[in-house]
Amino acid sequence: ERVYGVSSWGGGYFKIGDNGHIHVIPEPSTPDVKIDFKAVIDEIRQEGIEFPVVIRFHDVLRAQVVNINETFRKVIDSANYQGVYRGVYPIKVNQMREVVEEIVDAGAPYDFGLEAGSKPELLAVLAYNTNPEALTILNGYKDEEFMRLALLGRRLGRKVVVVIEKFSELVSLVDLSKRLGIEPIVGLRAKMQVKSMGRWQGSSGSRAKFGLTIAEIIKAARYLESHDMHDALKLLHFHIGSQLPDIRAIKDAVNESAMIYAELIHMGFALEYVDVGGGLGIDYDGSKSTNDSSRNYTLDEYVADVVYGLREVCDLENVPHPNIVTESGRAITAHHSCVITEVVGEIAPDGAEIDTTPKDDDHTLLKNLYELHQCIEQQQNYQEVYNDATQWKEQASEAFKLRVISLEELGKIETLYWQIMRKVQAYYRLVDFVPAELQSLDFSLSSQYLCNFSIFQSAVDSWAIDQILPVVPLTGMDKPPTKDCSLVDITCDSDGKIDKFIVDHEMSDVLPMYDIPKDEPLYLGMFLTGAYQDVMGDMHNLFGRLNEVHIFSYDDDPEDFYIEEVVKGSNVDKVLSVMQYHPDAMARDVKKLIDRQVAEGNIKPREGVKWTDFYEQCLSGYTYLSTNK
Ligand code: PLP
Repeated sequence: ERVYGVSSWGGGYFKIGDNGHIHVIPEPSTPDVKIDFKAVIDEIRQEGIEFPVVIRFHDVLRAQVVNINETFRKVIDSANYQGVYRGVYPIKVNQMREVVEEIVDAGAPYDFGLEAGSKPELLAVLAYNTNPEALTILNGYKDEEFMRLALLGRRLGRKVVVVIEKFSELVSLVDLSKRLGIEPIVGLRAKMQVKSMGRWQGSSGSRAKFGLTIAEIIKAARYLESHDMHDALKLLHFHIGSQLPDIRAIKDAVNESAMIYAELIHMGFALEYVDVGGGLGIDYDGSKSTNDSSRNYTLDEYVADVVYGLREVCDLENVPHPNIVTESGRAITAHHSCVITEVVGEIAPDGAEIDTTPKDDDHTLLKNLYELHQCIEQQQNYQEVYNDATQWKEQASEAFKLRVISLEELGKIETLYWQIMRKVQAYYRLVDFVPAELQSLDFSLSSQYLCNFSIFQSAVDSWAIDQILPVVPLTGMDKPPTKDCSLVDITCDSDGKIDKFIVDHEMSDVLPMYDIPKDEPLYLGMFLTGAYQDVMGDMHNLFGRLNEVHIFSYDDDPEDFYIEEVVKGSNVDKVLSVMQYHPDAMARDVKKLIDRQVAEGNIKPREGVKWTDFYEQCLSGYTYLSTNK
């Protein structure tokens, strides 16, 4: 547990069971209901579903929706706050239909709504957010068609709020709503002055991409007034960035927004909502700190700061408490899905086992290293061993370039070098002081585990912005790990790797791992991928979307579960079609080429049929490595 810190980042949903397997606890308040990952993997294999897979725990998604709503209810009650909480889920965080449907369903008792930031998202939201009490919040830049869709929502009796990001949008909304005779609900996004933190700190300050300055907010309010649409202004919105690591930025932003809200009320505008945007962070690295991959607060603390922060300013300013809107996406979705990948190979620096015995006429550098390796146990000074071996190896590379030593000699030298380094490493593991020069030995000697997935598809933030995502072996953790590894994916890209982990609460470039068993696969889980990672990945190397398995627990059996749905990942023909290929035509062309070889007598007819079938079968197969066969 200390090594992988599961309870630190797991949010109560994951833990290592006594059998050394990862367990999912769909509802942390009833910890005896748990699903063993091993059982899930076994069932996936039995069903013939190929790895890698995304697993969605819909219970976890539902629990998070309930969690945020209940926390707001509780704090609003105890603060005697006069407004209500009306959260919305921003679908950009994970637009998968099943995710949106589940959130809408779990949020129905709370009138939980949806947020859209583009026309396609709005079209989806109009179809799925049908509760007339729930809000539909529209952010992002908008054209007239976007506004028209928003007004369609009003016609359908929905609370659709058009959040104005720049003044010209208001002009076009007012104009269109007058022409159509439909009263809009208007929100204004404020450009906040508060200094945000984290990777998305550019979302606040005067250079922010979105929002209105104070002068523009006043101009917008007056513009509505001058068009007799004074009452349309209902919401004040801000968003100072996703994954906010420091609670102080949130407190400051709530305070700043409450002041603007109060001023607008004083100016005679009957605003009903303050929308504090997203930003509620996830403790990806389990450090509970202000690291970019962490947060220094809990959900309870966040909610209390929003509710009490608004109440304090409103009471001082003698204005009504507004209803509270949040647009938390990451916090709702991150835990509910993970990627399971199989380790399909090992790349070790000393992987090739060759006979290193020098021949009589072999070069002295090889003989020196061989002797050093033979008598290493008698050495007193291991730093000297390291220095000598390293120097000889470097000299050998130069000598090879000058054709002084042969390829075979160089191979033996490299092999001996790594064997010596293993012994040096073993020595320094037992002593307290490790010289600075030797501290990188653990990394140099570690293996790279080749995993059947693409980082560009499944963990794009790990590649793009160094986001830490927890990676854990799913079984075997009742025994100590046996080796250190970093991970590489199957893309033809040297960036396709993960070499930043949190191990024993510290940042590490290697992850303690287990040897790959001879008789069964070694599966790893990459966790907290439900927010953004699930949907932002790209098709690098044409590895498309993963097979998806949706898991539910049974109410009446605390240890059982069922696969509710399997969503097929990308087949080869699908990804090729996206790139404008015509798989049917390709199959015909390849068949013709094979037939020609048959006609020329180079391939027997029966073999020709087999190759044709094989090509077609690959075209319709999964894009990732086949490991189930
Ligand atoms: N609302 C807006 C306007 C956003 O830009 C974002 C994302 O950055 C969100 C909500 C969701 O934020 P988060 O996923 O941090 O909750």
